[in-house]
Amino acid sequence: MKLIFERSVPGRSTTIFPECDVPETTLPESFLRAEKPDLPEVSETDLSRHYQELSKQVYGVCDGFYPLGSCTMKYNPSVNEEAAALPGFAGLHPLQPVETAQGALRVLRLSEQYLCELTGMDEMTFEPAAGAHGEFTGLLLIKKYHELRGDAARTKILVPDSAHGTNPASATMAGFEVVNIPSAPDGGVDLTALAEAAGPDTAGLMLTNPNTLGIFDRNILEITRIVHEAGGLCYYDGANLNAVVGNARPGDMGFDVVHLNMHKTFSTPHGGGGPGAGAVGAKGDMAKYLPGEHVVEKADGTLAFEKKEQSIGRIRSYYGNFLVQVKALAYILMLGGDGLRDASQNAVLNANYLRVLLAPYCKVAAEGICMHEFVLDLAEIKERTGISAMDIAKSMLDHGMHAPTMYFPLIVHEALMFEPTETESKETLDEAAAIIIELLKMADTDPEALHSAPCHTPISRPDEVKAARTPVLTWKRA
Ligand SMILES: *Cc1c(COP(=O)(O)O)cnc(C)c1O
Repeated sequence: MKLIFERSVPGRSTTIFPECDVPETTLPESFLRAEKPDLPEVSETDLSRHYQELSKQVYGVCDGFYPLGSCTMKYNPSVNEEAAALPGFAGLHPLQPVETAQGALRVLRLSEQYLCELTGMDEMTFEPAAGAHGEFTGLLLIKKYHELRGDAARTKILVPDSAHGTNPASATMAGFEVVNIPSAPDGGVDLTALAEAAGPDTAGLMLTNPNTLGIFDRNILEITRIVHEAGGLCYYDGANLNAVVGNARPGDMGFDVVHLNMHKTFSTPHGGGGPGAGAVGAKGDMAKYLPGEHVVEKADGTLAFEKKEQSIGRIRSYYGNFLVQVKALAYILMLGGDGLRDASQNAVLNANYLRVLLAPYCKVAAEGICMHEFVLDLAEIKERTGISAMDIAKSMLDHGMHAPTMYFPLIVHEALMFEPTETESKETLDEAAAIIIELLKMADTDPEALHSAPCHTPISRPDEVKAARTPVLTWKRA
């Protein structure tokens, strides 16, 4: 399709300004540009057709089934958007006096109270802009804790081999050395390997529970005990909280610091529909080091920001992606405690239902009941037929579904990770399963058709790395 700049015709315009109702002034010369900006000049019809066409090139949660594992692509209720669009929130300026923004501070305060209740933490910050940013923040808290105790020997972070790639990346960015902990045959952490690795150089452990195989680690209390006994701290990657929210709390599992992904568990849009937000919670002493400004309630009931003396400092401008927090709070209030608990139980039920439908046709990476997601292992199918996880994922696109997460976790070589979420109906799961089963059978009967998919998408199989290696980020008029 054409770029909007290519549709531009000099002098064509859409803008009809209202009459000016304030005195006109001129900007100082130093603020004026030498040349007019090169903006596209199009009619309103061209403009709306352009964006309509663009919107048809993408696939979102409102288009159909979107089982992208670990990303929790649940439906994002429209009421969240309405709350965030209220003029009192959307029109706020971050520098306006707090007396005039009490409602916004109340949103942060309430969010903190509910999220602490749900996670078993004592305090929260809303500065981090995403999960990975929250990980980095949490690790700085752990670093600060050891520094303030004068313990410089703790330079290592233990990370299981099933972890999301952001975990070792964040640990490295925070200046730690990463120690890889192998998984046990059941998909959980290998306790012997953990006990051997934990010691006086351990700053902490990063873990997501349930993990990326969708397995709830039954040894979680033993795991956090081993790390604490070695003098380390436990960091909970909360990206998979959708499996347990309202049912189990990381704080009760022994974790000291957690991040939450508002754009996963708490139904705010992801990726192109984002931005996201990654609140970080901390327990006990760790809460003293949280970044930025914390909302406190004064004796007269008004709210104010307070800087923490021992804070690690700012990790983002102002108060994070505030409107995302408004959406998350709208979701929490709409569902309530029982609703949140039901949502995660239904997420687990849906994942198990789909797993049981697919299991006769493909190996599942971890045996037994899963939590919110499960991983198919196509290694045997690939060996026998040449059909890879990629071929099945690409073929799903032709059937109006989004692909599952591919080739993750890294410990499963031909991985397809499915997370249906609670917002899919039984009918949708039945339809999806029937199609996926058909595709898995085609591995034997018609592998060529799978190799050439997708045929019905705007583009077929783009180069996997070209956009990252040779990005083209600007456009110049010829
Ligand atoms: C999504 C995810 C992250 C990172 O979160 P972002 O918000 O994408 O930065 C970390 N860990 C796991 C397990 C995840 O699924």
